[in-house]
Amino acid sequence: MSIVLDDLVKRSSPRSSQMLEHLVSEGVSHKELLQLMACLPRHEFVEPAFSHLAYSPTPLPIGRNQTISQPLTVAKMTSWLLQYARLGRVLEIGTGSGYQTCLLAHFFNKVHTIERQQSLYVQAQQRLREMQVNNVEFLHGDGHLGWPQKVQMDAIIVTAMASKVPSALTDMLKEDGILIMPIADEVPSIGCWRRVGDKWKRLESSPAQFVPLLEGKVDA
Ligand code: SAH
Repeated sequence: MSIVLDDLVKRSSPRSSQMLEHLVSEGVSHKELLQLMACLPRHEFVEPAFSHLAYSPTPLPIGRNQTISQPLTVAKMTSWLLQYARLGRVLEIGTGSGYQTCLLAHFFNKVHTIERQQSLYVQAQQRLREMQVNNVEFLHGDGHLGWPQKVQMDAIIVTAMASKVPSALTDMLKEDGILIMPIADEVPSIGCWRRVGDKWKRLESSPAQFVPLLEGKVDA
């Protein structure tokens, strides 16, 4: 571990220091990201009954049968964006608890996020407002349809798994834009691609399990 990261771990709260050590041992090295994850109260994003496990290397329930990914998965996806994307405008499909949204809001100028479950959408919006995160636009809707206004994105991150990328999403990505999405293949994995004209250049891939990307929205 570098001196800087060592110092970071020492200064973080006991509950997040083990999480940081794990992230660093798995190769996460972006200092500002580690610092942010050390400060962000992850226990406030999960179902209260599981808050004691919030910093453990495991996915956890966030309500409505949905889960927040384990810290390493979130850190990996965010690191890829930090490495490859222009940090202008990002679209997130699957707001869920709003934890990933918070990380995105710290690094990108503008975040657009879509959630199909109304209650999760309402909760995440309230949570981020209380944390005074104010560069995020929330939408209750089906991410398959993309963002309703035709804005072009520097990056798109999907936090639910499907067998293929919805075409409305690829249409919204700028030339050279970055797409991160879990794909249900023989070995389910998250991929990171760069759009190059009509082609996709795969930059990264890592095995992972995610909840499915579902059709339509739920009004409850
Ligand atoms: N990024 C989230 C993880 C949420 S899990 C977090 O940090 O907590 C995936 C989320 O995707 C769930 O909340 C689920 O309701 C949502 N989802 C699934 N299919 C969707 C769709 N078609 N459009 C928008 N959200 C969807």
